[in-house]
Amino acid sequence: MHASVPSGETLRVQERFVSIQGEGELAGIPSRFIRVAGCNLRCVWCDSPASSWYPRGPRVAVDELVRECAAGPRHVVVTGGEPLLFRETATLTQALATAGHHVTIETAATVTLAGVHADLMSLSPKLSHSRPPEASWAARHEARRRRPDVIAALMTGAWQLKFVVRAHDRDALRQDLLEIESLLATLPLRDDDRSHVLLMPECTDPARLAADYAALVPVCRASGFRLGPRLHIAIFGHTPGT
Ligand code: SF4
Repeated sequence: MHASVPSGETLRVQERFVSIQGEGELAGIPSRFIRVAGCNLRCVWCDSPASSWYPRGPRVAVDELVRECAAGPRHVVVTGGEPLLFRETATLTQALATAGHHVTIETAATVTLAGVHADLMSLSPKLSHSRPPEASWAARHEARRRRPDVIAALMTGAWQLKFVVRAHDRDALRQDLLEIESLLATLPLRDDDRSHVLLMPECTDPARLAADYAALVPVCRASGFRLGPRLHIAIFGHTPGT
């Protein structure tokens, strides 16, 4: 692989590490993760608050990130936070593509970014149970989190839709499914696209994960949605850098 774009641009990076992809259709594939700091949402159960509620991390040159990625694996996941907030993400992902990487972008799908490259656009719109109680953020979060127009605009290439659902609570899960169907009805989907819609349990406790998966099996059978794994939780627990 050859990195070719010394851009002079920097991104604030909260963490970067190599692991296996724990979520989505590429679960299990060895991947390098670049987690940018900064998000326009404040999910109450955010599992990476150091990139949203309390953003931190150094600014790292885009060409340094590309150089690091040259060591492998081929798959690179650009996540956050919200990577599409930053124009430097476009520079980074274009350079990674030029260098021969497969690039996944993990986004809450509330904003678009011109020039960004993604071999897989991993869209994770947030449902209403993500709303934080803090008055300072609740209204902004609610105003921003549901953007079907943005989701549709980001579905131009390969994509997956991941929803965090409350599998441990039957009534709450029913509400979440109604909300998902209401959102999907606004999107340009074909019937066979439903297998690219993944339901992931809102769970960071490895001891509870199997029960949450089990609760989602009948839902997936009935809906045609896919069960979304959380392999990193099952293997490492809720641990940064995994
Ligand atoms: S969109 Fe993602 S990073 Fe941002 S607050 Fe929600 S879970 Fe956290």
